[in-house]
Amino acid sequence: MGEPRGRPDIRDTRRWKKTRAHVLATRAPICGVAECICPTGRAIDLSLPGTHRWGPSVDHVIELDAGHDPYDEANLVPAHSACNGRKGQRYGLKKKREAIRLRAQARELNPSRVW
Ligand SMILES: [Zn+2]
Repeated sequence: MGEPRGRPDIRDTRRWKKTRAHVLATRAPICGVAECICPTGRAIDLSLPGTHRWGPSVDHVIELDAGHDPYDEANLVPAHSACNGRKGQRYGLKKKREAIRLRAQARELNPSRVW
């Protein structure tokens, strides 16, 4: 449970590749993740491959699964791959914790129900 299935990863689409390339070509190469963890600062070296930790990636400021248009460039910022990945991981964890908290709360409010 938890992971929404059946929705293809937009990162595999041509439209995303185009959007991503456009963002990286037109914005300052500065990591937009608030908690940037790159030891050398926020500048992104565009000569590195996207697979490199400090290589370029494009982050969805409002997370992808929040229902926002995934191609809306106003919601996209350049980011280090590692910072972007870490942000996504933390977001996933936060969501999981929130779901657990809500279940516990529901149980408290409704103790007779068997979960
Ligand atoms: Zn960063």
